[in-house]
This record gives sequence, structure tokens and C-alpha cells, in this order.
Amino acid sequence: MLNPKTIRQLSKILGSDRLKKNVSLASYTTFGIGGPAQLFYEAKTNKEITKAIKTVRKLKIPCFILGGGSNTLIADSGFPGLVTKIESQKIKVKNNTISAEAGVPLSKLVKVAQKYSLSGLECCVGIPGTVGGAVVGNAGAKDQWISQSIKSITILNKNGKIISFKKDYCRFGYRNSFFKKDPSKIILKTIFKLKKENPKIIKEKTRQFLEAKSNQPKEKSAGSIFKNPANDSAGRLIDATGLRGKKVGNAQISPQHANFIINLNKAKAGDVLALIKLAQNSVKEKFGVKLELEIKLIGF
Ligand SMILES: Cc1cc2nc3c(=O)[nH]c(=O)nc-3n(C[C@H](O)[C@H](O)[C@H](O)COP(=O)(O)OP(=O)(O)OC[C@H]3O[C@@H](n4cnc5c(N)ncnc54)[C@H](O)[C@@H]3O)c2cc1C
Repeated sequence: MLNPKTIRQLSKILGSDRLKKNVSLASYTTFGIGGPAQLFYEAKTNKEITKAIKTVRKLKIPCFILGGGSNTLIADSGFPGLVTKIESQKIKVKNNTISAEAGVPLSKLVKVAQKYSLSGLECCVGIPGTVGGAVVGNAGAKDQWISQSIKSITILNKNGKIISFKKDYCRFGYRNSFFKKDPSKIILKTIFKLKKENPKIIKEKTRQFLEAKSNQPKEKSAGSIFKNPANDSAGRLIDATGLRGKKVGNAQISPQHANFIINLNKAKAGDVLALIKLAQNSVKEKFGVKLELEIKLIGF
């Protein structure tokens, strides 16, 4: 737990009206699960993000960056530090490029691209969360990923400097990037290079991606829990162990899609974690395959 003096110092810099204490994180995640953040700050501009991050680093306060909370499971005990919720919302279109700050909802980015007849982001339709979270996890569908349309990224680095670089540095892979392994890199802005396209073609591509998502559960979840192993599907493997529909407390392996864990009603993070371990152990035992988490665990 943080000492009161440190909290006062942070409060002075971020503003006592803006720095909230003991905020339940459940409503900030699509799972609807998670205990309290000891401290919580909504950063609305890149300047505010930078100020918050530089200050917590100086004061040695643990910090977690939260986007849309759609790929994250937060512990029932919450987070003993500052949760910085990214709310920077600027988005600009220039010729075939879109520049989007990290807090822009992915759904808005997809809509803006459609409005300007720009193609390349159709695979992101229907994916919740923010641009920053999507870049970290290289979100996408089928064999198309957001990184395929990225031109450059601006970050706050671990030395507190704002730097921009081309996407080649980011080591994007299937649901992966160097951001995932290094949380000291905070994404501030992403520039997408897209292609002018006939609106009818964009509409049809978008429809196809949406259709592919129509079998996903509608209950509260964090999307796919595990990455698909090479040439296989995590859902198929879990299903084959007989765990489809398995419940622990109020969490359940979705009867509709075995790679989703759903929150039936006020499930605990501990319930979800128990199902995660059960699925991993069962798949390892039956197939010798180690299921790797796609979601991020916080506070465990
Ligand atoms: C119903 C449902 C369907 C989904 N379908 C898909 C799908 O089809 N394809 C897919 O790829 N995903 C899917 N997801 C998962 C999820 O929506 C994506 O991974 C999304 O891109 C996560 O974004 P977020 O802002 O919610 O990230 P969060 O959950 O808030 O954060 C995820 C990680 O990114 C980090 N992070 C967030 N913002 C920043 C930033 N600015 N700088 C540095 N680090 C940051 C966080 O610290 C955390 O480690 C689905 C989820 C749900 C609930």
C-alpha cells in the first residue's frame, strides 16, 4: 500500500479533484470483474498521460495503463497503485492516413475509415477497446491484423521521452508486439496508412468480418482467453477436453465458444482464474499443448 505522503504528492500534481481513490475497476472492464484501484486517474490528453507517468515513475508508484479493459482480468483484490485510464481522443484524417490518439475507441477509428472510404481496418470491426490496446495486442480477425495498416507510432518511453518510430520496430506477430512484453512503453498516437477504396467493397469486407464474429458470446467477457496454438484453435482443444459449459462460481466456459469465459453474474476474478488453470491443465494433459494467455492478468 502507498504511504499517505506519496499520495498527497501525486494528488498535488494531478489535481485532487482528478485523482480518485479506491475506485472499483469492474465497471471499467468488459468482464465486469475487478477489485479497486487504490488510485485512479483518467488522462484526457497526451500531456496528462505524460505528466501522470513521469510522476508515478519519479515517486515509484506502481502504475497500470488501462484502455477499454476488454482484454484484461483484474484481481478481486484490485491494483495497489495508480490505474491510468487512457482517454485521449483526438483523431485526424489527411489524404490516406488517419492519426489516432491511444484512447480513441477502435469502433470510432473503423467508422472514420469507412466515412472517408479508406480500407485496411475492416478486420477491427466489432472489436471493443481502444486504439492503444489494439496496437499492444495486434488485434484483428482471421489472418488480418491492425498492424498491417500501421505506418508509425508515437510513444512515451521508459526515459520519459516522446519518440516516434516506424512499425517495423514493434515486432508485431499474432496477438503480439514488443509493447506486450514491455509495459514501460506507453502508446500515445498511431498513424495508419490506408487505401482509398470503393465504399461498396469496404462495406462488404466489413460485413464479412462482422458475420465471422456473430458466433461470439454476448455475455460479459474479455474475448478469447487464449491465443490459438499454431495450426489449431484453443476453442477446439478446450472443447475436446469436455470443459465447454464448465462453471466455477459464477464464471463459465462459454457453452457457445469454449475459448471465451463468461461472467454469468458478479463472477470473481478467482473463479475465472480457476477456469483458466483448469483449461490449461486439461489441454496440456490430453494434447501436450501449452495454452498461452491472450488476456492480461493484473494484480494477481
Ligand atoms: C466480446 C469481445 C470480442 C473481442 N474480439 C476480439 C477480436 O475479434 N480480435 C481481437 O484481436 N481481440 C478481440 N477482443 C479482445 C480486445 O477487445 C482487444 O484485444 C482490444 O484491442 C483490447 O483493447 P483495450 O483498449 O480494451 O485494452 P485493455 O484491456 O485496456 O489493455 C490491454 C493491454 O494493453 C495495455 N495498454 C492499453 N492501452 C495502452 C497504451 N496506450 N499504451 C501502452 N499499453 C496500453 C494495457 O496495459 C494491457 O496490458 C475481444 C474482446 C471482447 C470483450
